[in-house]
Amino acid sequence: MSVTQQQVLDCLSKVTSPRGVALTNANVLSAISVSDGKVFFSINVEASEARAWENVRAQAEAAVRAIPGVTAAMIALTAERKPGAAAPAPHRPAQGVPPVASHRPPHSPASPMSRQSEIPGVAAVIAVASGKGGVGKSTTALNLALGLRDLGLRVGLLDADIYGPSVPRLTGIREKPELNDDKKMIPIARFGLAIMSIGFLVAEDTAMIWRGPMVMSAITQMLRDVVWGTLDILVVDMPPGTGDAQLTLAQNVPLKGAIIISTPQDLSLIDARRGLAMFKKVNVPVLGIVENMSYFQCPHCGTRSDIFGHGGARHEAERLAVPFLGEIPLHMSIRATSDSGTPVVESEPDGPHAAIYRAIGANVRDQLKGVIAAA
Ligand code: ADP
Repeated sequence: MSVTQQQVLDCLSKVTSPRGVALTNANVLSAISVSDGKVFFSINVEASEARAWENVRAQAEAAVRAIPGVTAAMIALTAERKPGAAAPAPHRPAQGVPPVASHRPPHSPASPMSRQSEIPGVAAVIAVASGKGGVGKSTTALNLALGLRDLGLRVGLLDADIYGPSVPRLTGIREKPELNDDKKMIPIARFGLAIMSIGFLVAEDTAMIWRGPMVMSAITQMLRDVVWGTLDILVVDMPPGTGDAQLTLAQNVPLKGAIIISTPQDLSLIDARRGLAMFKKVNVPVLGIVENMSYFQCPHCGTRSDIFGHGGARHEAERLAVPFLGEIPLHMSIRATSDSGTPVVESEPDGPHAAIYRAIGANVRDQLKGVIAAA
């Protein structure tokens, strides 16, 4: 029997909120998404109240998970600070979501970032970001993860692109993550990677309508309510853009580095610059820039054409004194393999493209060597 929204509402009406009324009457719930036994919604409160609501979030999540037929439940607590309001007192969130406090200087002793905890067992979390969508960020994130795997590292991939999660399509994964005895989600094992995507939990059209703070909290929970196991590197495919949601995310997720994907066109280079500035602002080291769709390589004769101009990202990286990680051609087989769920590093491991992704992976691994070794 499939779970209905009404069942979820009935169950939430039995949870009392800190305001003394039922959760369903507290005017804090987002739309409730129920799909295939998976339930997702958020509780939206002010940052100053966040601590009081953490327990309620956990209670609500436990209650929803107890509904027969519910296979996964993810309830995000989002805390929005009113413009001009004082920042909330920092605290260490249990498993929930730290209040948004994006105006504090990063890494100051009282900032949420200085209190963010590592993910147990995961040596390094790195972000793959782009200034805008459609530049091949997800394709690069997945193939880079596979390149790192080929170097003998234990690698996970978190598709946090909540506006359009593409990892289900890129990997061909159709199944839902199972829960362990502690009700934590078990990532899907595919291609030797531990993979989790918001797209495993909600339909793509639901994903599109989420607001910034919800994005952040859902991602934080996907990092923390998932049994990642022991990993050298967890690659996070970030939502595109460099707005508030991304900034807050970069501040709240314990990132050891970020990689910016750009195409050679000027416009996306400008966007890439914004990405760099964003990570700089929150003291996340930029591991480098990748130029994707760098040149066109004819699938028939292999001839190279620099149809978008060429070398823009390399010059930009030099100018900004960040590493240039490599150029990936615009090639039919990268597109075709991505879109058929068999990424090129997996399906053509001896081909030239796999070699490029592995070389980028080797550069990233070398930059993170200290962190991985220390773990
Ligand atoms: P983003 O995550 O930036 O939105 P995607 O990774 O989903 O972008 O890629 C957008 C489209 O471009 C997909 O159809 C993908 O297969 C294709 N694509 C990405 N990189 C390349 C490439 N180097 N060569 C050919 N097609 C590519």
